[in-house]
Amino acid sequence: AAGHSGGRMVRYDASLERNLTQRATIAADLRRGLTAGEFHMLYQPVVALPHGLVTGVESLVRWTRADGRTISPADFVPVAEETGLIVELGEWIIDTVCAQAAAWRRMHGPDALDSVAVNVSARQLLDPGLPDVVAAALKRHGLPPEQLTVEITETAVFGGGRALASVHALSDLGVHIALDDFGTGHSSLGLLRTCPVDVIKVDKSFVDGLNGTPQQEAIAGAIADIAEKMGLGTVAEGVETPEQARRLFELGYRRAQGFLFARPLSPSAIDEMLGGTSEM
Ligand code: C2E
Ligand code: CA
Ligand code: CA
Ligand code: CA
Repeated sequence: AAGHSGGRMVRYDASLERNLTQRATIAADLRRGLTAGEFHMLYQPVVALPHGLVTGVESLVRWTRADGRTISPADFVPVAEETGLIVELGEWIIDTVCAQAAAWRRMHGPDALDSVAVNVSARQLLDPGLPDVVAAALKRHGLPPEQLTVEITETAVFGGGRALASVHALSDLGVHIALDDFGTGHSSLGLLRTCPVDVIKVDKSFVDGLNGTPQQEAIAGAIADIAEKMGLGTVAEGVETPEQARRLFELGYRRAQGFLFARPLSPSAIDEMLGGTSEM
């Protein structure tokens, strides 16, 4: 069945309705969950190729409700964006990640991790307060800016404007900027000219396409070459097999992330990996 809504044709089906109901439920629950402290961060190692030693981590938010049900960020981050709650959740995430990064630095020394990455979504970049939130968190926890990497997506900065201005302000603080899901947006190469990027994170779809697909290999190789010529770092995302890791290394990639090396882990598991046992 199809219906009219403001002159626009809207296709209507049961899965869409289910989806909307689920979204409304998540939206109502998000604020409560934030107040109730139901969110925590996991950290996925970023490793050096070819040997696989951990050089950094990416923080990833998790929501475990009091009833034990966990909700994937793929489900609640978009809802948090639509409702604007991502700004408040994002401030908690930035503070938590800076506190954790500073704690690791104290426990394991300044060279234990190159960088700790935090994801920042499109809506957060539109908040004019974001650079100040990051600056305040760095200061509060005594974290040198270059040890924080802010991961942004191409689509978030594609339109320029406020979002791009925020990225410039963040870069001016001295934090590193990583372009996430690289290659999946509208203007990947164009952005490298207008946006202050330090690291390119090559999307998992390119890594998946590596084995035996010459076109995919050509693209992945070209991205590595451009990054090297521009003096940018690269991270290959979603590496699941030794063959992918080997091929990525041959194509020029020196950093990778994926289930082959490690899943997202608790802070104490990262501690153990870095050779300590203490909690923050
Ligand atoms: P992303 O930033 O691209 O994060 C990478 C996602 O890929 C993570 O999913 C990670 O667990 C998953 N992943 C890592 N290695 C592999 C692999 O080898 N194979 C496969 N199949 N997956 C792998 P996760 O944690 O479910 O996060 C999904 C998305 O939610 C993130 O994509 C990011 O866009 C968003 N997100 C997660 N945490 C945050 C956050 O703290 N703030 C914001 N704004 N967004 C977040
Ligand atoms: Ca990311
Ligand atoms: Ca910079
Ligand atoms: Ca990504």
